[in-house]
Amino acid sequence: MQSASVPVTLLMAFLDAQRWRPRARHGRLRQLIRLYPVATGGCDGCAMEVQMLPSVTALEGSGFQLVDDPALADWLLLSGPVTRASAGRLAEVWSRMPPGRCMIALGACALNGGVFPNDYAVLGGVSSLARSWRTIPGCPPAPEEILQALCAFAREGERAAKAQARRKLEG
Ligand code: SF4
Repeated sequence: MQSASVPVTLLMAFLDAQRWRPRARHGRLRQLIRLYPVATGGCDGCAMEVQMLPSVTALEGSGFQLVDDPALADWLLLSGPVTRASAGRLAEVWSRMPPGRCMIALGACALNGGVFPNDYAVLGGVSSLARSWRTIPGCPPAPEEILQALCAFAREGERAAKAQARRKLEG
């Protein structure tokens, strides 16, 4: 009985690995973009999807890398609503990031508070607190959706940089 269940378990593990295997790259970016994730509250569903990015998507092959130091990060990936308890840490992380930084609100809670109403503990989504932000909707967004959105933001940034360089040359 036990010996029959081992192959089944192995087969299930194999099928699962195939299901979650990283998919194709989304077109390598010119420059590596480093991501620093911050979970300010919520249910941690979005934070868990972010942690899965390197293993179930072609994150690095597409030109992104998760880092554990905000001083090395280009983009901040914020998940969960901003709370009174987490606001100070978020501000500190933001201040440690180098110029050119960008904040991305990942999931409904980070954007507008989601299922967490504003109260004595919850300040709401980052849309009411910061100017430089982009959003990835969902509750939670799946890893592949997160990567697709990151690639779209990066391509948009590359186009804007090229247009700016062209304007400088012309002007
Ligand atoms: S958006 Fe949904 S999954 Fe993400 S932290 Fe909020 S409740 Fe959790």
